[in-house]
Amino acid sequence: MTKSNRTAGIMTTAIHAGDPPDASTNASAPPIHMSSTYITQDLSGFSAHDLTPDSPYAYSRWANPTVAGLEAKIAALQGTEACLATASGMAAASAIFFTFLSAGDHLVVSDVSYAGVAELARETLPRMGVEVSAVNMSDPAAVADAIRPNTCLIHTETPVNPIGRLTDLAAISNLARRAGALLSCDATFASPLGMDAVALGVDLTMHSITKYIGGHGDAVGGAVAGSAKLISKMRAEAGIHHGGILSPFNAWLIARGATTLPLRMQAHQAGAMAVAEWLEADPRVTQVIYPGLSSHPQADLAKRQMSNMSGMISFQVGNAADGERVAQQMIDRLEVIHYAVSLGHHRSLIFWMGTDGLMETSFRLQGPQLEDYRAYAGDGIFRLSVGLEDAEDLIGDLDRALG
Ligand SMILES: *Cc1c(COP(=O)(O)O)cnc(C)c1O
Repeated sequence: MTKSNRTAGIMTTAIHAGDPPDASTNASAPPIHMSSTYITQDLSGFSAHDLTPDSPYAYSRWANPTVAGLEAKIAALQGTEACLATASGMAAASAIFFTFLSAGDHLVVSDVSYAGVAELARETLPRMGVEVSAVNMSDPAAVADAIRPNTCLIHTETPVNPIGRLTDLAAISNLARRAGALLSCDATFASPLGMDAVALGVDLTMHSITKYIGGHGDAVGGAVAGSAKLISKMRAEAGIHHGGILSPFNAWLIARGATTLPLRMQAHQAGAMAVAEWLEADPRVTQVIYPGLSSHPQADLAKRQMSNMSGMISFQVGNAADGERVAQQMIDRLEVIHYAVSLGHHRSLIFWMGTDGLMETSFRLQGPQLEDYRAYAGDGIFRLSVGLEDAEDLIGDLDRALG
């Protein structure tokens, strides 16, 4: 089931796309194909350049049936022609950067993003001769100002990790079109259910599938969804040459998780709404950022752009010292929520992120960009990934930990 023949609803698509019954055994559930190599029936070439979309399986770094099933499922969920699965979300970001940027090119990247992506863009790409501008992507005028004649790629993330700020994708994609640049978007927080990135003009939608798509905290992986043309270029460079491919075992686990993605996203949204409203009403909490709340600074954009508000909440408790005290109380007192990094799992996860520390290690913002960050995050935020537990139990846990 591919985009072109997708007549089924989203729940049916999540279950059946990429998971046909096994032709050799009639098994209803998909098998795991762990084979690294495949017996060849014809004389064939031995290069990435010899690969075509209808080439038979030859070697699992080129293509693997279990991984291809997951790729078809994610492409169907995201509404794209194709998808490349990668070893991690970071491998997906690297795949985009190292396939579409060369020395002398210019990248406009969000000034706030997943820390690993921020560090890769700011530290590694300039070493390779790529010019990088880190811009507040919630401000289309700032993006327009940053564009240069050699801008090849605009990479954004919405909602952005860790502060929940949004990018107006339709506005930024207009700028990208006019500049002749590609637009990529890290939609990990939103999941494929959160936004119709294709309709909003995104060329390459990436996910850390470690998060919502896998959904169970037991496998690390990444994916980039886009047109067949862009994805086949990435498969040749990032998959076959850079080699950051997903293992079939992780693909199988993640595909199994993805079958319930639409149901889980509904439940994440409902749980997060209940928890966000409770937090917002609690006098111990200074500020809550959740796209589903009317208090979100971009609530109108959230309503226009997002079809599911996801389960990611950021909230502040006083100043840095208060935040650190409460973080320690969480480590000592939480009984349901795990104090841990990562997100998008059935288990709720929370983690404290101090603003000063993140500025030193990852974002290095100054002046108006730092002020804008602080408007969302103050001295620091708790990043809460609301899982699938009963909201009352999560609220009871937070109540104990806020103390
Ligand atoms: C986790 C995350 C990544 C990195 O993904 P990994 O699977 O951990 O490599 C990238 N972007 C966002 C928004 C993330 O949350």
